[in-house]
Amino acid sequence: MEKNLCIGCTVNNCEYHAQTENYCTLDKIDVGTHEKNPTKVECTDCNSFVCKSEACK
Ligand code: SF4
Repeated sequence: MEKNLCIGCTVNNCEYHAQTENYCTLDKIDVGTHEKNPTKVECTDCNSFVCKSEACK
């Protein structure tokens, strides 16, 4: 899969991570939150994340 230079990402446990470089390979991602009132970076989530099969066993 081709890296998307517009989406940097370090979550290499994700199925869509480029692996050799810190980019996502999707054309578009959905970012959301699990909080009612998000105030910090850790309140945000990549909702396009899919756990890589080897990492999820
Ligand atoms: S889908 Fe989200 S978590 Fe997965 S590689 Fe792309 S930006 Fe990172």
